[in-house]
Amino acid sequence: MTKKIAFFSIMWYLLLVNTTFAYNKADTLRGSNGNGRKWWDVLKYDLKVQFDLANKSIIGSNAIIFSIKSAIIDTIQIDLQQPLIADDVTVDGKKQTFYRDSNVIWVVGHFSNMEQGINHNIEVQYHGRPVRAVNPPWNGGFTYDYDDNQCSWVGVSCQGLGASVWYPCKDAQWDEPNNGMTITLCIPDSISSNYTKKLYKLSAISNGVLEKVVPATTLLDTNHHASKPKEGYSEWYWKVANPINNYDATFYIGNYVNIHDTMMGEKGLLAIDYWVLAGNKDKAIEHFKVVKPMLHCYEYWLGAYPFYEDGYKLVEAPYLGMEHQSAIAYGNKYKLGYKGYDRSHSEVGNTFDYIIIHESAHEWFGNNITAAENADNWIHEGLTTYTESLFVECANGVADATKFCKGEWQNIKNDKPIIGKYSVNDDGSSDKYDKGAALIFMIRKLINDDNKFRQMLRCH
Ligand SMILES: [Zn+2]
Repeated sequence: MTKKIAFFSIMWYLLLVNTTFAYNKADTLRGSNGNGRKWWDVLKYDLKVQFDLANKSIIGSNAIIFSIKSAIIDTIQIDLQQPLIADDVTVDGKKQTFYRDSNVIWVVGHFSNMEQGINHNIEVQYHGRPVRAVNPPWNGGFTYDYDDNQCSWVGVSCQGLGASVWYPCKDAQWDEPNNGMTITLCIPDSISSNYTKKLYKLSAISNGVLEKVVPATTLLDTNHHASKPKEGYSEWYWKVANPINNYDATFYIGNYVNIHDTMMGEKGLLAIDYWVLAGNKDKAIEHFKVVKPMLHCYEYWLGAYPFYEDGYKLVEAPYLGMEHQSAIAYGNKYKLGYKGYDRSHSEVGNTFDYIIIHESAHEWFGNNITAAENADNWIHEGLTTYTESLFVECANGVADATKFCKGEWQNIKNDKPIIGKYSVNDDGSSDKYDKGAALIFMIRKLINDDNKFRQMLRCH
């Protein structure tokens, strides 16, 4: 073997090693429908989280209501990423033994004699300091930030990484809670700023409808023992009526003000709420004027907004954005384009706020229609990226929409397939945005009948 052949053989082997062994056991547990997952179906999550902002830690519980859908296996897999600690697990109220295996908790019991046809309940109590985001929202986790008054501003983003970075769940896109979720957030009523030496009121925003805010009568310690709070704490109760992706469930804590509005849409009166930092209220009222015409445009092309029961919300976030269902994270700092520049290179992309237009389109594609696996997330991003051009078509006409679409194709890298590897929680190429959109553009051209194309998009 010549040196040259040997060199290329080694390179080939290394490439193969890279592609063959790039996934570990944790990836397989996250990405596959294994024995601890496949026999039960999530019906509802009842999540409660208490925040210690000073220590950057949480104490919480999630009650998972589920039904049995196939032959019972005596093991339950609950995803809860390290360094979070599971303290206690009960099934139908009975304490269970469990052990940790990378980012999973295995609950082992005698489940075989569980009654079929009725609902059951797994409750996990947990605590810890969730991972902090390195580069949110792409490399997610908790973001601890401050507003202009140096008042705490906190949020979480976890697409791909998984919701188990902050709460125990079946962390898989194919099993959404059919009957939605309740989210209770316990936070201090106010926080003082070292910068201004003033107290600021805090709000805790989440998905769905705010049912009530009540003073917390107890606080938990890490052993889940309750005591009376020394200072004022409140519990914010949010209710999500619709099925929801795990990664879409979220929270935002900060010195927010609410701007409430309504819109008469295809399914009736839609509640629209903006939660923005107190100092940005006037700016937001002006900047968010695009929301109603955008929603009307999307309803025309895509069908009724999918979550009337849960309302539509934009929530100012300490990171760029995320499609959190009925509580979209907005972090584009009231700029046009994508962080102020035109990612379509067509001069059309700077005529609107990309984050509002893109993340809102996800309510139809991503949140309403969800890919079962991360590997198929081009369904979220490709259709959503194409939908941006439908907004342009509504606002500026077909010529600009085409210019915008073709401009975005310049971002296509052709580096690897847009479909990732199945069963290992793998995401495909970032081409899923613009090449996915090009695919939908091509389908529209091939159909060559806008009415049929529109009916196809509305058919869900
Ligand atoms: Zn997106």
